Amino acid sequence: MSDPRSFQDGVQFAWDSTSITLAETCLRKYYYRMIEGWVPHRTSVHLTFGGLYASALEQFYKHRADGLDLEESLRRIVHQALVDSHGQSFEHSAKTRANLIRSIIWYIDEFGDESDTDMTTFHLSNGQPAVELSFTIEADDDIMFAGHLDRVVDYAGELYVMDQKTTGGTITPKFFDGFKPDIQMSMYTFAGQSILHTPVKGVMIDGAQIAVNFTRFMRGFTFRTQDELNEWYDCTMQTIERARAATREQHFPMNRTACGNYGGCEFRHVCGRSPQVRQQFLRADFTQGERWDPLKKR
Ligand code: SF4
Repeated sequence: MSDPRSFQDGVQFAWDSTSITLAETCLRKYYYRMIEGWVPHRTSVHLTFGGLYASALEQFYKHRADGLDLEESLRRIVHQALVDSHGQSFEHSAKTRANLIRSIIWYIDEFGDESDTDMTTFHLSNGQPAVELSFTIEADDDIMFAGHLDRVVDYAGELYVMDQKTTGGTITPKFFDGFKPDIQMSMYTFAGQSILHTPVKGVMIDGAQIAVNFTRFMRGFTFRTQDELNEWYDCTMQTIERARAATREQHFPMNRTACGNYGGCEFRHVCGRSPQVRQQFLRADFTQGERWDPLKKR
């Protein structure tokens, strides 16, 4: 299998928050996912639902920035979500196809009309709205950061990257505390500042609780100071160097303290077997599909 574009001579040089998180969590997991490209046969319903939901809302803000009115923007994203979700498997009591459409419509009811708020889409120096921004940033001599910002907003005179999160639990202020520290949120803030050449205060998170009979929303923030971003950069570069050295040496140690995180690592039953039989267990439950590429444009 050939390397993705984000690799050179077999070693990753372009890093997004997904690959940084993998490397920081466990180098063995990084190896399975980023180097060997093993993915579960079945995509998790949480990833499917969250991806379709976030994509619909990103498109809504893009349509609005392009000048479409609220009703037409909503009509288009619902139509697209119906098309994109057709045939997808939603084996979950709350995260169903119908509840996806409900959640999109209710979100627009809750937050879609910004005419009476202090919030506007930020505009780049070339006049373009800051929506759907894919970025690559030179982080160091031979390292790049890559990723995608859905939208940057000016809220009460400060800039924020906007992000959407879904959860099955009740959203309280504690929910937003969970995003600090957080690799992805720091990356968004760091990238926002770098590409806009303007201070960015943090990330505005629109949380959605997806329940069987309702969707409930809460908007919160996670802030980053410049010192916190500098520290994030130092820690991140150390993680990247560790992963690059592990790749050159072809030695990817397990971090056994991470095996039980977030309901258990997907590779747990592989790592729990004798080394001689691990390949068989990988082949039984995973497939080597297209490898994750931080440089792939969305
Ligand atoms: S099960 Fe544990 S050791 Fe294995 S990849 Fe996952 S976190 Fe790493």
